[in-house]
Amino acid sequence: MAYHAWFAAQDNPDERYPLTDVVYYSRSGGLLEVQHNMDALRERSASEWKDLFESRWMRTSWPYGSGVWGKKEWICPIVDDKNIVSMFEGGTNLFWAERFGREIGVDDLWIKMCGNSHTGSFKDLGMTVLVSVVRQMISDGKPIRAIACASTGDTSAALAAYGAAAGIPTIVFLPKGKVSIAQLVQPVAHGALVLSLDTDFDGCMRIVREVTDNPDTGIYLANSLNSLRVEGQKTVGIEIVQQFDWDVPDWIVIPGGNLGNTFALGKGLLMLHELGLITKLPRIICAQAEHANPLYRAYKNNWQYESIQARSTAASAIQIGSPVSINRAISMLQRFDGIVEQANEQELADAAARADRTGAYACPHTGVALAALIKLIDRGVVRKQDRVVVISTAHGLKFSRFKVDYHENQLREVVSNHANPPLELAADVDQVRRTIEQHMIAVTPS
Ligand SMILES: *Cc1c(COP(=O)(O)O)cnc(C)c1O
Repeated sequence: MAYHAWFAAQDNPDERYPLTDVVYYSRSGGLLEVQHNMDALRERSASEWKDLFESRWMRTSWPYGSGVWGKKEWICPIVDDKNIVSMFEGGTNLFWAERFGREIGVDDLWIKMCGNSHTGSFKDLGMTVLVSVVRQMISDGKPIRAIACASTGDTSAALAAYGAAAGIPTIVFLPKGKVSIAQLVQPVAHGALVLSLDTDFDGCMRIVREVTDNPDTGIYLANSLNSLRVEGQKTVGIEIVQQFDWDVPDWIVIPGGNLGNTFALGKGLLMLHELGLITKLPRIICAQAEHANPLYRAYKNNWQYESIQARSTAASAIQIGSPVSINRAISMLQRFDGIVEQANEQELADAAARADRTGAYACPHTGVALAALIKLIDRGVVRKQDRVVVISTAHGLKFSRFKVDYHENQLREVVSNHANPPLELAADVDQVRRTIEQHMIAVTPS
């Protein structure tokens, strides 16, 4: 039996489209999901899948050394290998955050460093799939001229890099003044057409939808309402389980904005379960910034959702008030006995700074996830002996302004409890000696 995948309407599995069709919505206007021929996948046993994945993992045999393409049969079997656009995404380190875990009250805390990736965020996982399918479409003769996305910064960086690697033009729609300088310069450097719009992310999303609405424009939409990206993003949960030798942790914490990733995390784990590689599921905690918390509000209100106007937050990549994947994220969280927790600016900034003090280098979104975890530990929901994985979604170096502002006590709504500004001294050896000695009184190895 052949491996195969297609788009299916969420509300009607019989309504199907090839993955290489330019189609984003079902006839009823809902989102499309990628479905796989599970019977074909079941012809390999769970242990055969594990062996196959292990044999490819982090090797150089192209493209299977990629954390995404090493699982090609589960992700996107319809792309010819020659059309795959990969920069060996995935395979990021998962490390035991021993000191930080001890500080916050869990012994078995792990951080999955998804930001240690080509463009510095976990958006690479999905973008490699989308751009590869577009290259397949072009090689099939489809008239695609460019790929476009609205972004809070990381999606556009990934799109621009993968588009540049493939030689496909890209157009990115960014909310003016609401992405970090590192995020803005990435698509600029990769030669994308960068449109900085005087609105927020939700406003950019509306405009890019209209621009790509008519397939005759030849501009293909790369936002996560395009479920091709979900297929790549879903490898994050699969990879975490693989890194624990196919053992399932008790909890996985993920920051959520547009919520495609919360859905994707669950989708990958369910596939592992369905194909027998694991026999239990973790619980999922989705963490939101208090200034952009429509999912948290829904969770507190019996899962009744209403969009909101998101307010400014240091966790700018999740500053979204009207998440595209809200419905599918809610149903996924329900299947995983999920919890939604929020963190305010003070909490997220301090959590990131505390983690940094133990050797991490946490972006503000990771700060949101860590702060949410701290609250759930303090409430006794997450217990001391539980194995917890926090998904760190971007590299801290993409958010230097956030770090600088924190240590200069300049962040809005934040008192920097762990600020460590540089000391400016004259070039005077006595003054330097005195300063070192004063400092050493305050710090001891622990
Ligand atoms: C995109 C992103 C998220 C959130 O993912 P969603 O699918 O939008 O919920 C979190 N952190 C970072 C750094 C991101 O770029």
